[in-house]
Amino acid sequence: MIKVSVNQELCQGAGICESICPEVFELIDDEIAQVKMEIIPEKYEVACRRAVDSCPAQAIRIEE
Ligand code: SF4
Repeated sequence: MIKVSVNQELCQGAGICESICPEVFELIDDEIAQVKMEIIPEKYEVACRRAVDSCPAQAIRIEE
């Protein structure tokens, strides 16, 4: 089980995370990402890790 969070101070709002895993990430006001759930179901883990790797601002953090 993993937890995911977005550091909204760092987020640049490009929305890459949302396009990779819209079940977990969403953009608020088209500018800042937020997570829709704190604890991530296993089926979304791979996509979440991909979002972490793809975020240009290194704003997404995973806690194992
Ligand atoms: S990919 Fe990173 S910078 Fe882009 S919206 Fe998501 S958290 Fe923000």
